[in-house]
Amino acid sequence: MTKAIVYKFGGASVKDAAAIKNLSNILFNRLRSPMVIVVSAIGKTTNALEEILRLKYDGVDFYSNITILRKNHLAICQELFEEGDLVFGMVENIFLQLARVLEVPLTKENYDEYYDRVVGFGELLSTKIIHAYLCHRQQYCIWQDARDFILTDDNFRFAKVDWEQTARQCQQKLVPVLKQLPVVTQGFVGSTKDGQPTTLGREGSDFSAAIFAKSLGAESVTIWKDVPGVLNADPKRFEETVKFDRLDYKEAAEMTFYGASVIHPRTIKPLANAKIPLFVRSFLQPEEQGTVIGDFGEGSINVPTIVVKDRQVLVTFEVTDFTFINESHMHQVYAELDRLKLRANLIQSSAITISICTDRELFKLEQLLEEMKGIFKVKYNEGLQLVTVKNYDERTKKRFLDHREILLEQTTRSTFQVVCRQA
Ligand code: ASP
Ligand code: MG
Repeated sequence: MTKAIVYKFGGASVKDAAAIKNLSNILFNRLRSPMVIVVSAIGKTTNALEEILRLKYDGVDFYSNITILRKNHLAICQELFEEGDLVFGMVENIFLQLARVLEVPLTKENYDEYYDRVVGFGELLSTKIIHAYLCHRQQYCIWQDARDFILTDDNFRFAKVDWEQTARQCQQKLVPVLKQLPVVTQGFVGSTKDGQPTTLGREGSDFSAAIFAKSLGAESVTIWKDVPGVLNADPKRFEETVKFDRLDYKEAAEMTFYGASVIHPRTIKPLANAKIPLFVRSFLQPEEQGTVIGDFGEGSINVPTIVVKDRQVLVTFEVTDFTFINESHMHQVYAELDRLKLRANLIQSSAITISICTDRELFKLEQLLEEMKGIFKVKYNEGLQLVTVKNYDERTKKRFLDHREILLEQTTRSTFQVVCRQA
């Protein structure tokens, strides 16, 4: 079999009927065999499902939220299909399944597991609709459940991939299907070996594309985005941006670590290890070149590159017993972060404090404060932004230092970072 190619379409690229038609147009002369098309949930569906979970957790009625979501999906279908098409019954059926899952009580203890059972419905809906639409336009393809291939541990919401099992499943079960027709499948979801649904972390569909690519020994991965490629800053926040034509794996990975949302942080590593190139291209201008991420050696970032991460909290742990910060304090803080599945996006220590900048996540800050208050005096600020500038110059630095309330600043040879109030 020739090498497969993997395409990934995110939520924005399938956000409404026009977008789905555009996806089909992009595939028009690109559909080939073997090919895997990985699709995310439609638009902001995952957020809507998270909101339903939040309401359910708070004991508030969430049925109107389900109704809105259902109507949105059906409205898209009305624009794509003729009346009476089988797709309508299929969508209704998926919503019935969702309602059934939501009958089970949700508690703090089963939250993560429950979350994975619920949010995956977004991808189920989008892929079923898109598969039906492609076939309707005679772009024949086969729908497959990604949970049959992507096997993970039971670390719900942040499941770790079992690479060996996943490769085996892909080779044994997906390759034969790919020999027949292109495959449409879901991003973001996987399952444990006992068949419990898991997810790979928010925005994880890029990572799914990389998992499929690695497991199949693919030729390349293409992520279709609403930007022309990888830029030196988010065009939604900054006016002047520069597109990189080529970017090294390592530099791209570093940008994603700091919060560049153009690619999911876990996407690069499997591709870099297998030397599979990653193309980032615009679904709005599909004929344009975009960015290729590959083994180009460092130095491809030659302009100041700005990455902003929102919804940050800065937590400061202060020793209370007149000792100084040592490895054991560091260890205590890290162990607790690890237990809560929280990541330190930036860390700074002084004689008597350790400060950690981390994502604001439901419950987790409260748990962190609760656990640590016996050991340290803990203070925190919310509503913050982490700004990272790679390859900074004085002008860019000044730009962030001047008009902001800065809570923490860190500069290394190549990177400048500030934690400041959300603009
Ligand atoms: N639908 C999921 C999310 O919004 C996964 C993805 O879009 O990549 O997080
Ligand atoms: Mg998404």
